[in-house]
Amino acid sequence: MTTIITAKNTVRDRMDYDVVIVGAGPSGLSAACRIRQLSVQNNTEISVCVVEKGSEVGAHILSGALMQPTALNELFPDWKKRGAPLNVPVSSDEIYYFTGKETSLRFPSLLASRVIHNEGNYVISLGNVCRWLAEQAEALGVEIFPGFAASEVLYNEQGEVTGIATGDMGLTQDGSQKPGYQPGIELHGKYTLFSEGCRGHLGKQLISKFNLNKDAGTQHYALGIKELWQIDPELHQPGKTIHSFGWPLSENSATGGAFLYHADNNQISLGLITDLNYSNPHLSPFDELQRWKHHPQIKKYLKGAKRISYGARAINKGGLQALPKLSFPGGLLSGCEAGFMNYPKIKGSHTAMKTGMVAAESIVDALLSGSKGQETLHDYEPAIKRSWVYKELHESRNVAPAMHRFGMILGSVFSFLDYGIFKGKLPFTLQDPQEDFRSLKQISSCSPIEYPKPDGSISFDKLSSVFISNTNHEEEQPCHLQLKDQQKPIRHNLPLYGEPAQRYCPAGVYEIVDNAGEQQLQINAQNCLHCKTCDIKDPTQNINWVSPEGGGGPNYPNM
Ligand SMILES: Cc1cc2nc3c(=O)[nH]c(=O)nc-3n(C[C@H](O)[C@H](O)[C@H](O)COP(=O)(O)OP(=O)(O)OC[C@H]3O[C@@H](n4cnc5c(N)ncnc54)[C@H](O)[C@@H]3O)c2cc1C
Ligand code: SF4
Repeated sequence: MTTIITAKNTVRDRMDYDVVIVGAGPSGLSAACRIRQLSVQNNTEISVCVVEKGSEVGAHILSGALMQPTALNELFPDWKKRGAPLNVPVSSDEIYYFTGKETSLRFPSLLASRVIHNEGNYVISLGNVCRWLAEQAEALGVEIFPGFAASEVLYNEQGEVTGIATGDMGLTQDGSQKPGYQPGIELHGKYTLFSEGCRGHLGKQLISKFNLNKDAGTQHYALGIKELWQIDPELHQPGKTIHSFGWPLSENSATGGAFLYHADNNQISLGLITDLNYSNPHLSPFDELQRWKHHPQIKKYLKGAKRISYGARAINKGGLQALPKLSFPGGLLSGCEAGFMNYPKIKGSHTAMKTGMVAAESIVDALLSGSKGQETLHDYEPAIKRSWVYKELHESRNVAPAMHRFGMILGSVFSFLDYGIFKGKLPFTLQDPQEDFRSLKQISSCSPIEYPKPDGSISFDKLSSVFISNTNHEEEQPCHLQLKDQQKPIRHNLPLYGEPAQRYCPAGVYEIVDNAGEQQLQINAQNCLHCKTCDIKDPTQNINWVSPEGGGGPNYPNM
């Protein structure tokens, strides 16, 4: 470790690696494992570190989740022997269209299996899979630093990426130093892989700086809100999966879908995914989930059950059309940072792993052929195009734009034909250029939505939900939810949209309060679940999510 003095006169420690990876999700960890596997195979030393903002690996991971083990089979063909936590094979798939709050239509199994293919997949906790992947990575010689958020991209004089700096610890709200202040650490690499997941904070800067989305279509997003329940063993059917669409989102012409998966230990994961192109600013994705649980097809599993965890995370939906350029001088993007989610399948962990592995192979090839680093790895993108990830995303490319253009019913019929029957071979690609933040209508033109009061056994309020996410931030630190214009929430968002952040934020972070007769926006940043929805959906893009002090945020168990 060396010590350096930055341009701002801060003294920071510096550590050097061959490869620095940001984010210990499935993508970053698979990349780290692959680099070390190739390093051992080639009898050469390639050093790798991974920084993770969660207090431990898995603390910020939230997913459904059904895992398609394609990438895992390639990374660790002996994963069963190594004890990977994939213990519950999918045993049955049910798909419903909820026509109303009491009614539903079940898709015949044959039709359903053309759309959702879960044979050979597993019901998992992605958090636990990441914890296991981290053990494999460490055994291969990877250094993992949980509790450290990458807060700054480092560049050399030529503008090439040379690594990242972790955030300072021990700053007050106004940015001055508290007792015990610790400056961030600089981690320098010949190559830096950014695997922060959907709407990564550094990824957003890189996409803009290197104009990586110059030739890409518009990225779209959804918000996934999930709960974990311990249910009556009599009602538990390990491996059973249920997907629904339609009600309650359809009542307000919003789209998305919901899931309920029977995992192990009498637990079920359930959640609602709300497409963020909805238009009614009264809509609250959190309250839509609370309503959905009261549908008879769902509520029957929750009799006598206990909710044990809660969380939320944004998901990319743009698919193939929205992929940015994947490499730039000194760096690469992988996983949901780049947008490799297969939205119609609601699966992105296998594509995140595979793209991490392909990025790893490009980096190792470059290092083995004598690269000193900081090059643009042009081989990475063609390698992705040759992989099964590209084929998968190509097959499903029209589904999300079709839903946006034609609505849920016609969009589903179109998607069934295009994706389910023709496997994406129809000779056209639909585009969807309108950004999600532009879709809100003015509140005066929309019908209010009356959400029922939570009953405290199936439905809950936001605060008791955030409580069981174990979210915690050091209170005395600069606010990580930065407003570009302090006046906009009250002067613009409130009159036009009723300040929608109060409703789209699944953690109740944004509140309009009355202070001596004057309305103000109060930001309860300590409750933030790091889902990134405010960064995506604010109608004037006024909110910039930046990483708070490392270790802050949710502490999810097996989400
Ligand atoms: C509700 C929901 C249901 C889903 N269901 C499924 C499913 O059933 N099957 C499936 O395959 N996929 C599913 N997905 C998608 C899947 O979870 C993602 O595709 C996958 O997690 C992406 O992996 P990733 O490694 O790219 O990013 P992530 O899993 O998001 O991991 C990124 C990691 O980087 C860390 N990080 C971010 N920024 C920084 C920073 N600046 N410094 C340090 N660390 C940082 C984060 O804390 C996190 O640990 C679902 C997603 C959601 C939200
Ligand atoms: S403040 Fe933003 S990132 Fe945090 S939970 Fe709310 S919407 Fe999500």
